[in-house]
Amino acid sequence: MMSDGDTTAMSLETTLAIIKPDAVRAGNTGHIIQRITDAGFRLRGMRLMHLTRPQAEGFYAVHRERPFFGELVDFMCSGPVVVMALEKEDAVRAWRDLMGPTNSKDAPKGTIRGDFGTDVGENAVHGSDSPENATTEVAFFFATSELL
Ligand code: ADP
Repeated sequence: MMSDGDTTAMSLETTLAIIKPDAVRAGNTGHIIQRITDAGFRLRGMRLMHLTRPQAEGFYAVHRERPFFGELVDFMCSGPVVVMALEKEDAVRAWRDLMGPTNSKDAPKGTIRGDFGTDVGENAVHGSDSPENATTEVAFFFATSELL
């Protein structure tokens, strides 16, 4: 029999978050992880890694025709990143709300990009933009057996 608890569990989502090289370099990894856990996300997977160029190009393949693609790939390979799989109800939207808008200069204080980002490119964090993309992006970095 289904209880209320089961109904709630069914709306849980997992999204892909990345602490980008600018934020790792600036020593903000701990601050950002603290905000994530304070906001009620559960960490299902986490890894420190230095993306290779093919990995960054593959991850951002949807942007390959955009004028900033080369700059984005260079940036994402410029130092270590922290990739995380985050679980919460409505996780995709909740994580994007916590991140703030793409351009850090437009991001309100209190959002991660508003507090730790620099501009439209060096914006501290990545988050999946739809549940469908979240599934693909989580699978890009984590095997099912690595998700706790
Ligand atoms: P978001 O990360 O908010 O989903 P996009 O999908 O539009 O934003 O862009 C992906 C990433 O590409 C951004 O987070 C940012 O790092 C970079 N980017 C976006 N627009 C620009 C731009 N005009 N110039 C340089 N880098 C950009």
